[in-house]
Amino acid sequence: MMRSHYCGQLNASLDGQEVTLCGWVHRRRDHGGVIFLDIRDREGIAQVVFAPEHEDVFNKADRVRSEYVVKVTGTVRLRPEGAVNPNMASGEIEVDASALEVLNQADTPPFPLDEHSEVGEETRLRYRFIDLRRPEMAEKLKLRSRITSSIRRYLDDNGFLDVETPILTRATPEGARDYLVPSRTHAGSFFALPQSPQLFKQLLMVAGFDRYYQIAKCFRDEDLRADRQPEFTQIDMETSFMDEDDIMAITETMVRNLFKEVLNVEFGEFPHMPYSEAMRRFGSDKPDLRIPLELVDVADQLTDVDFKVFSGPANDVKGRVAALRVPGAGSMPRKQIDDYTKFVGNYGAKGLAYIKVNERALGVEGLQSPIVKFIPEANLNTILDRVGAVDGDIVFFGADKASVVNDALGALRIRLGHDLELLTCQWAPMWVVDFPMFEENDDGSLTAIHHPFTSPKCSPEELKAAPQTALSRAYDMVLNGTELGGGSIRIHDRKMQQTVFEILGISEEEQREKFGFLLDALKYGAPPHGGLAFGLDRLVMLMTGANSIREVIAFPKTQSAACVMTQAPGEVDSKALRELHIRLREQAKVE
Ligand code: ASP
Repeated sequence: MMRSHYCGQLNASLDGQEVTLCGWVHRRRDHGGVIFLDIRDREGIAQVVFAPEHEDVFNKADRVRSEYVVKVTGTVRLRPEGAVNPNMASGEIEVDASALEVLNQADTPPFPLDEHSEVGEETRLRYRFIDLRRPEMAEKLKLRSRITSSIRRYLDDNGFLDVETPILTRATPEGARDYLVPSRTHAGSFFALPQSPQLFKQLLMVAGFDRYYQIAKCFRDEDLRADRQPEFTQIDMETSFMDEDDIMAITETMVRNLFKEVLNVEFGEFPHMPYSEAMRRFGSDKPDLRIPLELVDVADQLTDVDFKVFSGPANDVKGRVAALRVPGAGSMPRKQIDDYTKFVGNYGAKGLAYIKVNERALGVEGLQSPIVKFIPEANLNTILDRVGAVDGDIVFFGADKASVVNDALGALRIRLGHDLELLTCQWAPMWVVDFPMFEENDDGSLTAIHHPFTSPKCSPEELKAAPQTALSRAYDMVLNGTELGGGSIRIHDRKMQQTVFEILGISEEEQREKFGFLLDALKYGAPPHGGLAFGLDRLVMLMTGANSIREVIAFPKTQSAACVMTQAPGEVDSKALRELHIRLREQAKVE
């Protein structure tokens, strides 16, 4: 080994010891004839001092530039008082250099590597190998490695077997578009990259493996948002002969251990909340329980109100009128309310009605609002009582299709929580349970809320009779308003699986063609089984405090699903296309 220590490992206990460091020149300073090189490696930065007395070494140090790769030997010594840097792991010491070897030179990097420089993301991604040298980026990837290592250890200790599943496979219905790979040997046929190892892990249960896990790459060709990537990583698990409580318990313990081990954070037991309650109180199936604001239904008080914000869809079966009380925010300026109105507009809300509660004792006179004149006083009082409004509060209202009200007020609740600094704790983990089996599309057809292999809580006959109201045996783990993972008890009964396919409008022929292997497997002794998958990137994002999953992936794609470093996706030559039996349309060639 060329080095004796990592830079970040040096401390006062090594005083007087000779060390050899290998790394990059982070910064170079001249101070009255003395040269200071900050040498950086994965573990940190150390200050190395070159005094003019060692002329040969000093002259070499004089010629190095930022990001040169060097090997330095010297003696550790305590820094003089006043020169101690408490922000640096090795800030108490410095290295008095006796030898310096330049292992490689470097052009001036395209951007400086100190944490204060503002560099565009595109540039950072183009030169990711330099960007990842920045200590804060290295820290994130190191934490990611500690997270996967903790999880592997837990799962290994609990009898889970790590089994790999194919990347070249058939379409797996997780609800997104597939990435396709053309087959050379089967003209006109395509592999799909897995959206998740869902069916393979179920088949591993049929095969008797009992407890499986895999840190698995998944591929979904979706429009990207801040927390989405076309390829992402799941901690994927499946077990046999366990019910949902067992699975939630074992994975909750895994997450609790992980946070204790890596961040020294203690979680209590996770609360369980039915989906319907989460939607009613928070307008979301992944509520952020750190924020103490809740939606309250008030439609019954506004049935006769002739005011357009509260009429129309709100009185439909699927409509919702809800109020959101914000304690002590009654002095919010008009401009801020306008901003929030624009904000909820992004979620489809046509407006944002509000009541400022100045002085309840004065009746209507004590309320400031564009809508109170449309609402009978008795109803107003009932609403204000119901939301618990007191003087100094503001109450917002949403009235629209239930989905719009939930999305808009749900998002507003979170925005207000952050803007007004209302968060009551740092971490709020929970389980959401009792999801519906299906959701209805605009054309009346049904889609599986989790995926079509999720077991309902009822018999095939009951499911067929009332699919819209059937509940599933699915569960999501939610942390701070982010879905960390989700899973379910699966269908292991062939008849039930066929019933679900039927309800989803998948014909018998299509069932045989797409899922024949699964229906076969269910014939040959499939055990009761279930599992769950965690989104590793999101988990790491939350644990590192990063604001995008791109920050915790070594080589992520851009928002337009491309890699600016390798220039992928790239064109291929016509010979390769011919071998794959593919001819590009004229238009694609021109573009
Ligand atoms: N395959 C599911 C997903 O990717 C997770 C599961 O049901 O285990 O969301």
